[in-house]
Amino acid sequence: MAPAWPELIGGRRIERTAATEVNATLVALAASAIEVFGGQQRDQVRACGRWPLCVLFFVKNHPRRDYCSPACANRARAMRHHDRHQADS
Ligand SMILES: [Zn+2]
Repeated sequence: MAPAWPELIGGRRIERTAATEVNATLVALAASAIEVFGGQQRDQVRACGRWPLCVLFFVKNHPRRDYCSPACANRARAMRHHDRHQADS
């Protein structure tokens, strides 16, 4: 569906494809997913701790990391703070 080949242009490797833009994007997404879920770090891949509010995955490269990004960690912290203060009133 997406034949691709490398070309050497000006000493740089350029990836070319005959696929439509949509198919090339789908192929890139599939290749990335295979790399993440089938690669050497597959055992460290986790769903974000804010699931189902966040549907992203991350590589758990630190024992205390539970979120896909610092932004998600901050949102989770804010929600816990909000929940604690809701329970007080
Ligand atoms: Zn997240």
